[in-house]
Amino acid sequence: MAQTIHDAAIIGAGFGGIGAAIQLRQLGYDDLVILDRESDLGGTWHVNRYPGLAVDIPSSTYSYSFEPNPYWSRLYAPGAELKGYAAHVATKYDVRRHMRFDTVVEGAVWDEDEQHWTVNIAGGERLHARLLLTATGFLSQPAFPDIEGIESFAGTVIHTTRWDDSVDLAGRRAAVIGTGATAVQLIPEIAPRLAELTVYQRTAIWVTPKWDGAVPKRVQKLYARVPLAQRAVRTVGNGILELIMVAGVLKYRRTKLLNRAVEKMALRHLARQVDDPETRKKLTPDYTFGCKRPTFSNTYFRTFNRDNVHLETSPITRIEPDGIVTADGTKTPIDTLVLATGFNLWDTNFPAFEVIGRDGKDLGKFWRARQFQAYEGVTVPGFPNFISLNSPYSYSGLSYFTTIESQMRHMKRLLGEVEKRRASTFEVTEEANAEFLGRMTDLVEDSVFVNGSCATSRSYYFNQHGMATLLRPTSTLNAFREAGSFPLDDYSYA
Ligand SMILES: Cc1cc2nc3c(=O)[nH]c(=O)nc-3n(C[C@H](O)[C@H](O)[C@H](O)COP(=O)(O)OP(=O)(O)OC[C@H]3O[C@@H](n4cnc5c(N)ncnc54)[C@H](O)[C@@H]3O)c2cc1C
Repeated sequence: MAQTIHDAAIIGAGFGGIGAAIQLRQLGYDDLVILDRESDLGGTWHVNRYPGLAVDIPSSTYSYSFEPNPYWSRLYAPGAELKGYAAHVATKYDVRRHMRFDTVVEGAVWDEDEQHWTVNIAGGERLHARLLLTATGFLSQPAFPDIEGIESFAGTVIHTTRWDDSVDLAGRRAAVIGTGATAVQLIPEIAPRLAELTVYQRTAIWVTPKWDGAVPKRVQKLYARVPLAQRAVRTVGNGILELIMVAGVLKYRRTKLLNRAVEKMALRHLARQVDDPETRKKLTPDYTFGCKRPTFSNTYFRTFNRDNVHLETSPITRIEPDGIVTADGTKTPIDTLVLATGFNLWDTNFPAFEVIGRDGKDLGKFWRARQFQAYEGVTVPGFPNFISLNSPYSYSGLSYFTTIESQMRHMKRLLGEVEKRRASTFEVTEEANAEFLGRMTDLVEDSVFVNGSCATSRSYYFNQHGMATLLRPTSTLNAFREAGSFPLDDYSYA
């Protein structure tokens, strides 16, 4: 029996995969397959269900520009609304029917003779597709702490990516390990329900006030009737985020004062919210604002005033069946261990599974041996017909939708040219890739990552070699412009 060769295989059914599928459909690719190991679509917003989960970018901005949602209930929508929005978009743009869930992709190999990709699925099944697109996310491979004795813990263990609503927290003695963006949202929500909560902090986090609020029904109706009104709000939101990103992060060398001003604001916020000077000191970061993704909360700091909440900064030495022991010799008895330890980007991701290109070139090994790189954050030499949406230097701006839409634009230009030339393969040239990498490496020199004091920040923006290769060090406007105007000869076509 002749094997089916799909037009394209997209791995990941989050906002990135949905956007890519919409773009491919618009370009006339009908035979798509979208594979995801989860049981439903939404990616981040399906997997994460912990109490307090909300977007930290205003929702009018954190959404597809071509599909505004007038009905966000708050300025910063709660996680469940994001998941609902993903389902709505996938249905409306008719890409849901291409999705296959509970399907773990283990690897993909380029077949030079047949000019297609073979996708290996756990269980032994193989799929074939002319194009391979990975939309596997950055924050999708959970990190578990490597602490002596953790497997001996006899109580309940919950990782924030596997929140279990059936666990009744009332009256429990819990520990939260981690004080990143997730913990900032989670801790204020669970603290009042617990008998005792000990928060184990390795790195203090910058937290600024969150100007949040419910979106009144009349405003929602206005957005529905006059989409331009919401578009104006989006534009303002984009502008503010762009300013924070460009001035506060990318051009830090020249705009240090802005970071200092934000640091001062965050410190005032801390001083206003936390009564105990010792706790305040422990909650004060010792690295420059911008080294790490900032967080926003009006309730996180205040939670540490509660009698049942304790902040522990002595390093954890081991976990015993009934408690946590720290370097100062203290043992804190607990019955519930919450791991807010985030995600592993640089070891288990990039790529999320083995990708083997032309002549056996292994993407993961190439990135590790020869520096993390991808032309325009999208393509890599030696990997024909491959679009890697979660690549080094692809994340542009603070709202991930700016990245998604730039990448959709890049796909449109590139695949339009493939079609025009009636080519069956495309591949970025070594020269174009080297030029882009050189440019990005130079631009990073202006950023907070090089000029700030980031050594103690433990930020996922840095890879295992200490290089900041996640964020594209240009404005989102530049990324968007280049996505629609890159030289077509930067690719070879055959
Ligand atoms: C708690 C949290 C809050 C966030 N808040 C914001 C925010 O406020 N603003 C912002 O801009 N960004 C935020 N982000 C980042 C967020 O991940 C992106 O905004 C966006 O949702 C990423 O979409 P994606 O489709 O690229 O990846 P994801 O949503 O991560 O989707 C990737 C999908 O790939 C699947 N997958 C991975 N590997 C495999 C495999 N081997 N086989 C099969 N399927 C696989 C996963 O199951 C997942 O469904 C947040 C992330 C987290 C975790």
